[in-house]
Amino acid sequence: MKNSNERWNISNESLKKPLVFLILFLSIGIWRWKASGNTFYLFNFGYIGLSISIGMFLNGALPKKHKSWGRRITQLLVGCYMLIFLGIINRENMQLEGFFIYFMLGIFEAATLHYFVAKIVGPLIFGRGWCGYACWTAMVLDLLPYKIPKEGRVKKFGVIRYIHFFLSLIVVLIIWSTFGSQNFGKHHMIELYMLLGGNIIYYVVGISLAYVLKDNRAFCKYVCPIPVIQKLTSPFSVMKIEIDANKCVDCGVCEKVCPMNVKLLTYKNEGKRILSSECINCQTCANVCPKSAIKSTFKFDVSFTEQLNYKDK
Ligand code: SF4
Ligand code: SF4
Ligand code: SF4
Repeated sequence: MKNSNERWNISNESLKKPLVFLILFLSIGIWRWKASGNTFYLFNFGYIGLSISIGMFLNGALPKKHKSWGRRITQLLVGCYMLIFLGIINRENMQLEGFFIYFMLGIFEAATLHYFVAKIVGPLIFGRGWCGYACWTAMVLDLLPYKIPKEGRVKKFGVIRYIHFFLSLIVVLIIWSTFGSQNFGKHHMIELYMLLGGNIIYYVVGISLAYVLKDNRAFCKYVCPIPVIQKLTSPFSVMKIEIDANKCVDCGVCEKVCPMNVKLLTYKNEGKRILSSECINCQTCANVCPKSAIKSTFKFDVSFTEQLNYKDK
């Protein structure tokens, strides 16, 4: 007989969460379609919802040793769609700079809608799930060889993402005042140039940092400005990781594999869920736990203190 490492697990549990997410995204698509009369929204949110649901289903149903494929498939489906179809073909700048521009133009679509759903309101439900499941930058970074960070975080680098955030805003304001607002917005060439330029820089810096610090997610921890926005709402997320203290045997494997250096056992010992806003809901910890003691649960709790493993104290 096959053990849980080799067996598929198709149950109500493995279907429930994907269905909830599919309905949630379809509801947003229908809302935007009815409000704007544009059927594209139904396709867009239907596609993203289906991609997320497929990944969640596979993560729950695949044999334990293959579960990580669920998340990787969603990353590829959503990441390629957003970067290639929405970004390069449709010329919508979904990067932070694009969000600033659309926001300043008063456009509630493209990047503003994306940030609203994925990075501002969505994190109240699924925390930083965007970073675990959908980001096109991490889609590439997660392919690099340092999936498990060799060491803890470098505490003093934590400020870089905040500096980056404000520099992005300043750059947009300078370009805006130089070229005039009429040159910005959906389908403009300048959006395409900014998207391509920004992404090339992100990939070069992200890949270089991963190799220098031997950590695939170094860019996410120190440089990317997106968490500055996500951290406003993700601490309130109803979906978080929880360890069942009755099943846990304190082996420490979950902490060792966490790509974001979260101190899972400190939260468990305090009787709390994983309240860190650095958790990206990637399920890596749950997939390696030998006692199946870790899962995502839905509750109300919040904390603004972080329990993270640091290299320098
Ligand atoms: S931190 Fe930035 S680069 Fe990393 S997954 Fe999140 S949005 Fe993507
Ligand atoms: S991997 Fe599972 S059993 Fe081991 S410390 Fe983590 S929660 Fe406990
Ligand atoms: S705590 Fe678990 S789900 Fe959260 S980032 Fe770490 S490994 Fe991923």
